[in-house]
Amino acid sequence: MTPFDFNPFGRRNLPKKISEQEEKKLSEKNWVKCPSCGVLIYDKQLKDNMNICPKCEYLFRLNSTDRIKLIFDENTFEEKFNDIEPKDVLNFSDRIPYSQRLKEAKNKTGLKEAIRVGTGSINNIKVATGIMDFGFIGGSMGVVVGEKIVRIVEFATQEKLPLTIFSSSGGARMQEGMYSLVQMARTAAVIGRYQKAGGFYISVLTHPTTGGVSASFAFLGDVIIAEPGALIGFAGPRVIEQTTKQKLPSGFQTSEFLLEHGQIDKIVKRKQLKQCINTLFGFYEKGKQT
Ligand SMILES: [Zn+2]
Repeated sequence: MTPFDFNPFGRRNLPKKISEQEEKKLSEKNWVKCPSCGVLIYDKQLKDNMNICPKCEYLFRLNSTDRIKLIFDENTFEEKFNDIEPKDVLNFSDRIPYSQRLKEAKNKTGLKEAIRVGTGSINNIKVATGIMDFGFIGGSMGVVVGEKIVRIVEFATQEKLPLTIFSSSGGARMQEGMYSLVQMARTAAVIGRYQKAGGFYISVLTHPTTGGVSASFAFLGDVIIAEPGALIGFAGPRVIEQTTKQKLPSGFQTSEFLLEHGQIDKIVKRKQLKQCINTLFGFYEKGKQT
């Protein structure tokens, strides 16, 4: 009610009071807080800006669908080898059974596995590709992730296509035990055969790329690119500190630290990534013609 016994807004309705609960619901739904600078961003604005904080350029994670939109020419991505699905062969259970975890991941992401592979065009250059999705069990590499990489890289070898893989992973999938660890050797071997046959592979490391993925195909690119500020490494910093009993330098395991120490070739901002990959593949295509 107003302090007047008439409506001071004239004939219009009084502004509807929003309850605290409703306000909270609204804010949770439409606004995202930047973990780096704390600014509130409208979710649509964030999406339109490639999931980059407009104030401090913090990179929010991209799922595989948004990554495909960002990198590939419109409607050129064609998914391949999507008929194979992970299975709980060890009958494994941690907090919940692995079979249930798989079901939940599928429902949450609409994907069958933590990677999508296929072909697509980057500014009119056709490439073979793999895009990992962290939303599916932390982008972990199980048997099917390994198999999909093997198949797409063999396809790229046969078709003489350049290759780019976007990694985003917590490492090997422990629910598949030894079977998942073997995928490190398999993916490394297939990349080796591809490169021996003259293929050109650009590996893109996004936040985070760790564990068995960083220790296999992700670090075998002819060119290794990382997004700014990404966490990249094998074991987490706490595990290393406990094992080596040494204090780690600040910024350890970030893209910037790795560039400084010669482990990666280039850090590329998200908005320039497509152009950068296109330029590199352009050199490769020209080289093939001469
Ligand atoms: Zn920010």
